[in-house]
Amino acid sequence: MTVDGTHHAALASGLVDELVGEALVWSSLHGLVVGDRIIQRSGTVPGVGMVHAPIALLPMPFPEDYWRQACELAPIFNELVDRVSLDGKFLQDSLSRTKKVDAFTGRLLDIHSEMLQINKKEDIRLGLHRSDYMLDAETNLLLQIELNTISSSFSGLSCLVSELHRNLLDRYGNHLGLDSRKVPGNKALSQSAEALAKAWKEYCNSSAVVLFVVQPEERNMYDQHWLSSKLKEIYAITSIRRTLAEIDAEGEALPDGSLIIGGQAVAVVYFRAGYSPRDYPSESEWSARFLIEKSNAVKCPSISYHLVGTKKIQQELAKPNVLERFLENEDDIAKLRKCFAGLWSLDNAEGVNRAIERPELFVLKPQREGGGNNIYGEDVRKTLVKLQQEGSEELAAYILMQRIFPASSLAYLVRDGIYHHDQVISELGIYGTYLRNKDEVVMNEQSGYLMRTKVSSSNEGGVAAGFAVLDSVYLT
Ligand code: ADP
Ligand code: MG
Repeated sequence: MTVDGTHHAALASGLVDELVGEALVWSSLHGLVVGDRIIQRSGTVPGVGMVHAPIALLPMPFPEDYWRQACELAPIFNELVDRVSLDGKFLQDSLSRTKKVDAFTGRLLDIHSEMLQINKKEDIRLGLHRSDYMLDAETNLLLQIELNTISSSFSGLSCLVSELHRNLLDRYGNHLGLDSRKVPGNKALSQSAEALAKAWKEYCNSSAVVLFVVQPEERNMYDQHWLSSKLKEIYAITSIRRTLAEIDAEGEALPDGSLIIGGQAVAVVYFRAGYSPRDYPSESEWSARFLIEKSNAVKCPSISYHLVGTKKIQQELAKPNVLERFLENEDDIAKLRKCFAGLWSLDNAEGVNRAIERPELFVLKPQREGGGNNIYGEDVRKTLVKLQQEGSEELAAYILMQRIFPASSLAYLVRDGIYHHDQVISELGIYGTYLRNKDEVVMNEQSGYLMRTKVSSSNEGGVAAGFAVLDSVYLT
C-alpha cells in the first residue's frame, strides 16, 4: 500500500467491513449525521430521524502545494467580495441582461436597487464563504469552480469527517500505510461560530439572538445545529430557526431599524435558505427577505454579498482588467487570476462557437445555485444551437465555463450504511470568514475545508443533492 494516490486500491473485504463498521459507529456517536428523510418543518420541532452522513471511508490524497495555494486564496477572495459588494453599479450593470430573462435574479436585483435608492449602508459586514476548486489534470492547475457567498454548507460536518479519518488512521494507519498527521486539522465549525459570535458582539445588544433562516424541508439540519450549539456552548448566544414564510408572519422592523422576530431582537441573520427560486414559493418569502435586508441586523449574506457570489459576477470578474478595479495588490490579483478557469458570457461568439464544436470541453451554467442545474456534453451543443437560432435573449441567463477534468482514483464511498468501491473525482472547498465593522477588519481568515468526492461518471457535485459524499484531505 502506498501513499501516492493509490491507497484506495481494493482492500481485503474483511478489513473494509471492519472500517465501515467503525466509521458508522463513530459517526453516530459524534454527530456526523443527516436527517434520514426530508422532514416538513412544523413549528420548532426538528424531526428526530437520522442516519450517518454520506462519507468517503478514507481521506483523499491531495498535493500539499495545491492545498496551500487554495488556503492562501481565502483571505484574498474574502476581501474581493467585500470590495465588489460596495460597487452597486457594477453589480447592477453586470447582471442587467440576466435580469431580463431570469425572474429570480431580477427579484434579488430589485431588493438590491431599493437598498441603493435609500442609500442603505451595511457597517457590519459578515461573510461565511466557501470557494470550491478542482485540480485540472490536463493543465495541472488548481481551478476555481465557484465561490459560494450564501448558505455555504457543511462547516459543521466537514470537520467531523476530518476527525473521523484521523481517528481511523490512528487505529488502522499501520495496516493501511497511512499517517493520520497528514490529514490537516479542520476548524470550519469553530471559526464559523467565532465569526457569527463576533458579528453578534459588534451589533451590541446582549439580549439579541442569531436567526437561522432555514428551508421548510431540510435533511442537512444537523450541520446547522452544530453551529447553533457551538454558539450557545462557547459564546452563550441563543439562536432561533425560522423559514422565510415564518419570518414574514412573525417579523417586524422597528422604527430604529431593529429586526424583531416573535418578540425577540435579532443581531445576526444567517441564511441557510434563500438562494434558490424554490425558496420563494410566494410573495411572503420575498417580503421576508426584504424586511431582513432593510433592517439593521447583520446579514450573512447581505443582498450585495449574495449577488457577488453569482456565477455571472464570477464570469465578469474573470474578464481582463476587472480585478484591478477592486484590488491594488498585484500579487493578490495574480494569485486570483491563476485559479480562474476559462469563463465566457454567451454574447462572446467565439466562445459559443467553440462550445458548439467541442461541447465536451465546456459546462453551461444557468444563473442558479444549489446543484443539479448545469448542462454538460451534447446538451451544451443542443442548448446553444437552439438559443442561437431563436436569437434568444435567454442567452444572457447562462455563462459558459471551461470544463475541468480532475484525475480520477478509486475510493470507498459509504451512503446509507452501504459501501461502494468506485472511480471518483474530488472537489476541494476552502471556507473563508470575514467580518468588518466600518474601517476595521475584525476577521479575515481561511477557516477550514470541505472535500467532496463523487463517482467520476457523475457531472454534478452536491452532497445534499445526492451526488457526492463528504471527504477529507490526505496531504501528499
Ligand atoms: P452549484 O451552485 O449548483 O453548486 P457549481 O458551479 O458548483 O454550481 O456546479 C455544480 C457541480 O458541477 C460542481 O460541484 C462540480 O462537480 C461540477 N462542475 C461545475 N463546474 C464545472 C467545471 N467547470 N468543470 C467540471 N465540473 C464542474
Ligand atoms: Mg457548487
